[in-house]
Amino acid sequence: MINPEEKIKRIDRALKSLASQAKDCRLCPRDCGVNRLAGETGYCGETLTLRIAYCGPHFGEEPVISGCQDYFQQQEQQLGGSGTIFFTGCNLRCLYCQNYQISWLNQGESVDEITLAQKMLQLQAEGVFNINLVTPTHFLLPLLKSLRLAYQQGLKIPIVYNSSGYEKAEVISLLDQIIDIYLPDFKYASPSLGQKLSRAPDYFQFAASALREMKNQQPYLRLDKNNLARQGLICRHLILPGYLDNTRTIINWLATHLAPDIGLSLMSQYRPCFKAPTELNRTLTPEEYQEAINWAEKEPWEILFLQPLKFSSEEHLLPDFNLPDPFGWQKQK
Ligand code: SF4
Repeated sequence: MINPEEKIKRIDRALKSLASQAKDCRLCPRDCGVNRLAGETGYCGETLTLRIAYCGPHFGEEPVISGCQDYFQQQEQQLGGSGTIFFTGCNLRCLYCQNYQISWLNQGESVDEITLAQKMLQLQAEGVFNINLVTPTHFLLPLLKSLRLAYQQGLKIPIVYNSSGYEKAEVISLLDQIIDIYLPDFKYASPSLGQKLSRAPDYFQFAASALREMKNQQPYLRLDKNNLARQGLICRHLILPGYLDNTRTIINWLATHLAPDIGLSLMSQYRPCFKAPTELNRTLTPEEYQEAINWAEKEPWEILFLQPLKFSSEEHLLPDFNLPDPFGWQKQK
């Protein structure tokens, strides 16, 4: 990780390059061209005023992000976790989104840049392992200003960029070494599936170039002595029931173009939510998940993250952002 002074310099450069986006937003592949500074909204549904739906420790991310069981046993309690900040709105909006309350219904509260910086510092003071920016793309401008303030006031822990993968590589290139850990989804291999489930026929083309750029910036997944990620790229793929061909193509592409120094997180947790189409109105079967695991295990990842299939029926993976503790972590302690 570079030092905070260097991060601030890079943030200043990125803000300068992105300045025109405030009045003519083309931050992501949707290319809306709206004046968000004047209060207009594009596909993501958000102006330039930061809005967040949840800010707090999260214990359900990959073990290298949220903390591993060994670490918690060592500490004899559940400390740390990932310092998640869930932003309101989304530039992709999948029909089946489990976070639809924030991606589609745009629930959340406005915060200014100073308050967000304070929240980051508060999370750090509480002992989280990183600041995990969930769906940050459309808020990059105010978010970078908050990060700048947080670095000036002592932020030291890694920054995680947790996105849908629907990004422009040229925008990601401005985040070089500002972001320590990239945690993008890689969802669809074909234009027809991208169109059908996210109205994004160009998803693969944009996500593939963005992931290559992320890998250029963070070529190796680096862990500390507690097996917590400090830098690197972890790609997530949510397996969609009945769409195993899609999963196979995604795994093959990642293995060919980005392996072996990345993490692959093969996710079994799909549950039908919101506007999920009829054919996706079920969870994954154990056989489907095993088939995907068999393909993934043939390839050389730095780490392969798997989920137990029982996760598909556990409530805690379906957050409720109407609650102060959307993931129910307090209940589980
Ligand atoms: S960030 Fe929002 S307004 Fe800007 S191009 Fe993307 S979807 Fe459109």
